[in-house]
Amino acid sequence: MVDTVSLSDYKRRKFSPSQAGDVNAILAQVQEIAREVVAPRSEEADENARWPAEGLRALQRAGLGGLVVQNEYGGKGQGLLTLTKVCEILGRECASTAICFGMHSVGASVISANATPDQQERYLTPICEGRHITTLSLSESGTGAHFYFPKTSLDYLDDEYYVLNGAKTFVTNGSQADSYVVSAVAADPEAPVGQFSCVVVDGAAQGIKWGPPWDGLGMRGNSSRSMELDKVRIPRHNLLGKEGDQIWYIFNVVTPYFLVAMAGTFLGVASTALEEARRHMMRRYHVHTGSNLAQSTVLQQRLAILFGVVERTRALIYRAAGRFDAGEPDALVAVMAAKAEVADCAVQLVNEAMTLTGGIGYRQGSRLHRLLRDARAAHLMSPTTDVLRVWIGRALLGQPLLSD
Ligand SMILES: Cc1cc2nc3c(=O)[nH]c(=O)nc-3n(C[C@H](O)[C@H](O)[C@H](O)COP(=O)(O)OP(=O)(O)OC[C@H]3O[C@@H](n4cnc5c(N)ncnc54)[C@H](O)[C@@H]3O)c2cc1C
Repeated sequence: MVDTVSLSDYKRRKFSPSQAGDVNAILAQVQEIAREVVAPRSEEADENARWPAEGLRALQRAGLGGLVVQNEYGGKGQGLLTLTKVCEILGRECASTAICFGMHSVGASVISANATPDQQERYLTPICEGRHITTLSLSESGTGAHFYFPKTSLDYLDDEYYVLNGAKTFVTNGSQADSYVVSAVAADPEAPVGQFSCVVVDGAAQGIKWGPPWDGLGMRGNSSRSMELDKVRIPRHNLLGKEGDQIWYIFNVVTPYFLVAMAGTFLGVASTALEEARRHMMRRYHVHTGSNLAQSTVLQQRLAILFGVVERTRALIYRAAGRFDAGEPDALVAVMAAKAEVADCAVQLVNEAMTLTGGIGYRQGSRLHRLLRDARAAHLMSPTTDVLRVWIGRALLGQPLLSD
């Protein structure tokens, strides 16, 4: 068991933030895709648990497959702040599309963190050219929310190959992606207990078996399926970094990117809930008073409180992401707090919006119906709210993060 990881133990990659003009152009492209491609298909993705292929392909065609991949590998070289804003824009229309794109981006950032020339050519070039979707495959049923403790084994097969055995759960983009970033117990028998590795597994590799289609309460377009790895042969050069590097990846790359991708997504959900409530108050007239709900001072106040919650959560997320991009030493704690807070914010916003929209919002098939189901995933997607708050507390107290 790893019991010594503390925030001061790791060194982060520093980003040189791209030009503001580039970011604005990227966000404008995403707005257009969200409006033209993602929004019209979001209901269907939810209703039929359909993976949002069209939205993801449109993002790839717009050159955003390599959003967070460094410029020298052909990517856009963007950091956490742009990723969270992109996911927010997508999340306003379809949380599943936002998370599917977010997980691809996290996977791409993991591959690019220490990519070898061979990995650049086989994975990063097609990712940046919009020909390859990747994703993260970390969680296992045995260790649950403690996604950083895999039991999947990575053994030496011969001089050229490893063999991978185990089972993963909730793999977003499962069976749809071209490759999977998989965590496994390090092959080196001399490695200290609790040291793990990450490898890239091609989607077409022999020995991968997929569980039943994803049928969740919300995030229904995710295709978050279970994945069995039965004697899967992996070329040795698919190892990311060095054997036993997984914890480095978890705190340098996976956690920050994953947290902001989710934070942006659920901020998008919260913002849409606020807008639904606002529009409903303007629309809803009562015949006995001849006025709409927007005239009620009680409801005006309730709306104002919700606006404040969204604004302060957005400020926290953007500031934490910006601080991380700037390389500030304790920014990861703020990024952790941002994801924990946005989970509360999304659930509160959708709940309250549902009250404000009365029976109309509560109807089967209402927009809030979907938002409520999507928002509930925010607390339980790893790092979960409970785990994050334990980590934050420990970080503030100077204690090792992973001490249980
Ligand atoms: C829609 C969706 C998409 C997902 N996508 C991916 C993906 O792409 N890749 C991937 O690898 N995983 C993914 N996951 C998995 C996810 O990140 C979690 O690992 C998983 O949901 C944990 O579920 P569990 O039932 O095993 O949790 P459990 O481990 O059983 O935990 C249950 C609850 O107890 C809390 N808890 C557990 N231990 C502690 C503790 N020590 N202290 C405080 N609280 C604790 C947890 O926070 C949680 O709220 C996804 C999950 C969902 C629902």
